Amino acid sequence: QTHFVSLSLQAKMSRPVQARRLEGTDKNIWVEFVKLAATYSKVNLGQGFPDFPPPDFLKESFVRALSGENHMLHQYTRAFGHPPLVKILAQFFGKLLGRDLDPMTNVMVTVGAYQALFCCFQALVDEGDEVIIIEPFFDCYEPMVKMAGGTPVFVPLRPKAPKDGKLMSSADWQLDPAELASKFSERTKAIVLNSPNNPLGKVFSREELELIAGLCVKHDVLCLSDEVYEWLVYDGKEHIRIASLRGMWDRTVIIGSAGKTFSATGWKVGWTVGPNRLLQHLRTVHQNSVYHCATVAQEAVAQGFQRELELYGKPDSYFVQLPKELQQKRDWLVQSLDAVGMKPIIPEGTYFLVADISKFKSDVPDVPDSDEPYDSRFAKWMVKNKGLAAIPLSAFYSGAHKNNYNHFIRFCFAKEEATLKAANDILQKWKKEKTSP
Ligand code: PMP
Repeated sequence: QTHFVSLSLQAKMSRPVQARRLEGTDKNIWVEFVKLAATYSKVNLGQGFPDFPPPDFLKESFVRALSGENHMLHQYTRAFGHPPLVKILAQFFGKLLGRDLDPMTNVMVTVGAYQALFCCFQALVDEGDEVIIIEPFFDCYEPMVKMAGGTPVFVPLRPKAPKDGKLMSSADWQLDPAELASKFSERTKAIVLNSPNNPLGKVFSREELELIAGLCVKHDVLCLSDEVYEWLVYDGKEHIRIASLRGMWDRTVIIGSAGKTFSATGWKVGWTVGPNRLLQHLRTVHQNSVYHCATVAQEAVAQGFQRELELYGKPDSYFVQLPKELQQKRDWLVQSLDAVGMKPIIPEGTYFLVADISKFKSDVPDVPDSDEPYDSRFAKWMVKNKGLAAIPLSAFYSGAHKNNYNHFIRFCFAKEEATLKAANDILQKWKKEKTSP
């Protein structure tokens, strides 16, 4: 009897439990690095979130929504977006794009930009479709394409040497036009664009966007445009929306995030903006998976946008103030890193900065023939031994390319002055220990 039970149990256990679509997508660097940072870090410049509070007007909106008269804000709202939020998003993005947007069909609210991306891939990518991804990239694009049955096709940004003695800029990382063109074929369904780009902070120029747009139109390819860092652009640079270029509105889904826009990543309010011919399919995925995002959070974000629409372009606008503050923080971190010889690549946008760790290699020797890219081992060593958390750049490359650029790490500088000073202290102390025998 026992023998029979154990045999049948064994038979059951030997059957694969996970769906085939999950094969090869189970590893996630955030699980590992978030845990390492929680365990060892004194200063966490790893994961991308601010350690300063969201603006008061936004917090107050949330409190009002939560404890005000309208108790219906505690109940379900419209699946594709709380009406006040889709209305103001349509108005706001309509103004930015110079076109009339219908709140009900051209906008959909999601649980963060993350779910917006998931809806895009599930709704628009089929078995056998190819999706072009520009490396380095926000890591979830690859597993999301694979889970939809698609094949990611990677094309790298290639660094050009900066002018003598100058620090490199994220603008020095560029696409090779011929290489990019060679990736488009009749199998290509979409390209993912992320400008400003995480992790480099690159803000794609009009010429670069026109190159991509031209190829999309020529090959009838969709563009999934992840613009979550749209307001975080520095040195007078301009964020250009690819959907505003000729022939692109009809083939582009814009993805945005209130988490990044209002420094409230835990609220998980995101959105998509685009033509109904694309969004109607995103709605199908959304209604059959998540249904909708927390009503109170949507109401508060709607009020935040209402304020920003009234203050648009004015000095009091949060979308004007935040980049100013972040530019200052960027410059502090650039100085700290440059002073110790951990060469920063100056980002034109986002709140990330990638730095070259070559000069620190003697502290963390390479292990020949190891499967783990050097930068990953370095970042782990750094958090354990120096208490400073950062993310290896190889995390933003596909499997086959993880060793192409393995001597860089990414820092997040959306942090209080005290946090950045503490990081500076760690770096200075480290440098002293290195130079004095
Ligand atoms: N896209 C990019 C490029 C990101 O960096 C992030 C967050 N790190 C997201 C999307 C996800 O945004 P959200 O927190 O709104 O889900």
